[in-house]
Amino acid sequence: MSNLKVAIQKSGRLSEDSLKLFEECGIKFNNGAKKLKAHSHNFPIEFLFLRDDDIPGYVEDGIADIGIVGQNVQDEYQKEVEVIKYLGFSKCRLSLAVPREEEYKDVTYFEGKNIATSYPNILKAFLDEKGVSAEIHTISGSVEIAPGIGLAEGICDIVSSGSTLMSNGLKEVDTVMKSEAVMVANKELTSEKQKIVDQLIFRINAVLEGKNNKYVLLNAPNDSLDTIISLLPGMRSPTVLPLAQDGWSSIHSVINEDDFWGNIEKLREAGAEGILVVPIEKMIK
Ligand code: ATP
Ligand code: ZN
Repeated sequence: MSNLKVAIQKSGRLSEDSLKLFEECGIKFNNGAKKLKAHSHNFPIEFLFLRDDDIPGYVEDGIADIGIVGQNVQDEYQKEVEVIKYLGFSKCRLSLAVPREEEYKDVTYFEGKNIATSYPNILKAFLDEKGVSAEIHTISGSVEIAPGIGLAEGICDIVSSGSTLMSNGLKEVDTVMKSEAVMVANKELTSEKQKIVDQLIFRINAVLEGKNNKYVLLNAPNDSLDTIISLLPGMRSPTVLPLAQDGWSSIHSVINEDDFWGNIEKLREAGAEGILVVPIEKMIK
């Protein structure tokens, strides 16, 4: 059987979490010295370590079958690949920023001005949609210094905390797009490779679902069981076990990370106590 070739960023903000995802999927590989390639002994997969900018192109050409890349990079290069999974890590945004002292009302600020960016295509589409015409200067790195050296009045760059902007005397004024890591795939995978991708996605879903949910155990008096069960629907329905003490039960269920704190409040109001919350490693619905 031929291996599925997976393109991963060699070193950068995507690398660690990308590799961790495969590890969490139970795929073992030797990631010793910084090599160009690595392969797994327990899953038909082979890793290629590349610059992130090259990944969509290599996947389009079939040098790699799938790859992990920021949505921002995928949108910028617009290669003919399939986005098959949003992975939830490397979250950031592509934003417009101007010098801190500037007065900014809306994006028309940029009319007739110069903007430096590494994302000319995404920025152009955004400005076109807003009906703003500005001069886009494409530079490949250190975009944040452009206003300081007089190259442009504003920039469009990746932001997560905003500290880089701040230390360069800039402020974030508009979000052009939100981004996270995505898995992209070649559009003409053989059915053999598609099968491996399906197995991989099945495992990734189990890992991501696990992260989005918590296992909850609690004690409650039997007369509040109905209310508590309605708050904890779980996967099918919660497990209810009698406690040694008469009139009390232990309830086990799964709760979604998103409505976690709100639900815990309601459970306490309903009479739950001794609440334990345990992380879930994998979850298969
Ligand atoms: P390469 O050397 O591979 O070209 P790079 O310098 O272009 O790397 P990185 O800075 O490692 O790229 O960022 C890779 C991707 O990680 C970005 O395209 C973006 O999707 C995401 N990213 C960038 N900055 C952040 C951040 N501060 N927080 C979270 N994710 C980020
Ligand atoms: Zn890059």
